[in-house]
Amino acid sequence: MITNIFWFRNDLRIEDNPALVHAIKHSDFVIPIYIIQKSDLENDKWGFPKIGLHRRKFIYESILDLKNKLLALGSDLLIECGDPKKIIQSICEKYSIQEIFATREITSEELSIEEDLNSITKLNLIGYNTLYQVDKLPFKIQDLPKHFTDFRKKIEFSLEIDDCEKTPLSIKSPSPFPKSFENIDIFYNKNLYQFEGFNHFVGGSIPALKRILEYFWETKSLSNYKVTRNEIIGENFSTKLSPYLARGCISAKQIYWYIKKYELEIEANESTYWLYFELLWRDYFKFVALQKRNKLFFKNGWSPIELDFSEDKDTFDLWKEGNTKEPLINAFQKELYLSGFMSNRGRQVVSSYLTKELKIDWRMGAGWFESNLIDYDVCSNYGNWAYQAGVGNDPRKDRSFNLTIQREKYDPDNKFIEFWEKKK
Ligand SMILES: Cc1cc2nc3c(=O)[nH]c(=O)nc-3n(C[C@H](O)[C@H](O)[C@H](O)COP(=O)(O)OP(=O)(O)OC[C@H]3O[C@@H](n4cnc5c(N)ncnc54)[C@H](O)[C@@H]3O)c2cc1C
Repeated sequence: MITNIFWFRNDLRIEDNPALVHAIKHSDFVIPIYIIQKSDLENDKWGFPKIGLHRRKFIYESILDLKNKLLALGSDLLIECGDPKKIIQSICEKYSIQEIFATREITSEELSIEEDLNSITKLNLIGYNTLYQVDKLPFKIQDLPKHFTDFRKKIEFSLEIDDCEKTPLSIKSPSPFPKSFENIDIFYNKNLYQFEGFNHFVGGSIPALKRILEYFWETKSLSNYKVTRNEIIGENFSTKLSPYLARGCISAKQIYWYIKKYELEIEANESTYWLYFELLWRDYFKFVALQKRNKLFFKNGWSPIELDFSEDKDTFDLWKEGNTKEPLINAFQKELYLSGFMSNRGRQVVSSYLTKELKIDWRMGAGWFESNLIDYDVCSNYGNWAYQAGVGNDPRKDRSFNLTIQREKYDPDNKFIEFWEKKK
């Protein structure tokens, strides 16, 4: 009898999970595991918690949702905390594990853990959680177009998007199932979380599906997405699916096929197309990260020109805490800190202000986002920050936002600023 491990990472779902389907196919018994890594509990090099409270809450809820789904399939989820290598080694010895299965990740920290695990037993890595599969792209990753538009034109009419994987109907696991780590409180403690009134996201694949139903079919907000997506106030100006995508509670492919279903049942228009277009941006930043590797974290990114960024902490703190001379920047920053979310427009405006006006090292801003965003995704975050800072893939490197115009256009009645300015 073959017992293998399935290691859940940023793919916290049983639906459309090719790596999980693979694991089940090649095993008699599977031990599904999620590991809270020691480093998840530490601070980054700028002194910010690597995973702030908002994201911890979301991850906690997502792994409980996943555990319940696995229990319903006859399996369970082993939740562990510590060094992945030691944890996996001990399970491998106890259960004579032959192979580990997982979804691929892209950036250096994740790859170094993969190397550690591969030294224990065979690690099978499958897929990248993208809409399009890397090995089907009509170019080598080294030849990824420099600009998004060229990338889009090369793939959108020439490549098909795969169907979703079938959802497993049952998963056999060893009995008794190994016991999970009991002190989950050190990662997330409900009683210490004080942002409930601001953060409306609940983690898990069931809330992800609920959000699809609400945004697509109940409110039909999808039909107006192209017009509303740059707004900054309200529930439905954009899909708010990013936290679910980032933790893999739903896949980009699932969303794509829901768009197609909506187009058949309700209507197909520029807005329904535009959501696919935005999902392409997500893929693009993953492919950029694959191509640029550690340059994604270099001060100068992959720009040939040396840009002058400072690390002045006082100036940075004014931005971080929402105490600049610009009310719109301050409101966005408070929104991020208190709610764990910021609109795309807000992210563009505050990142441009930090890097182009205050001329601060963009990686400090990216680190602050990483700590606070519920939807933090390493490729989207660092790729977008590099883009805004003018050291990434932006064809308009000198672009910066005029804050007076932004206020007139997106907060004409001062509602957004007034709402956040009163909050501590
Ligand atoms: C400085 C900066 C940092 C960012 N950091 C992150 C991050 O850590 N995680 C993250 O998911 N997004 C990030 N984004 C992209 C974008 O702001 C968010 O994806 C979006 O605001 C999430 O809200 P939504 O799901 O309602 O988006 P929608 O407008 O509904 O878009 C649907 C989906 O398309 C994808 N998408 C849309 N725009 C982008 C984009 N510019 N880049 C990549 N994917 C995109 C996302 O997966 C999003 O959920 C960042 C953007 C900027 C400018």
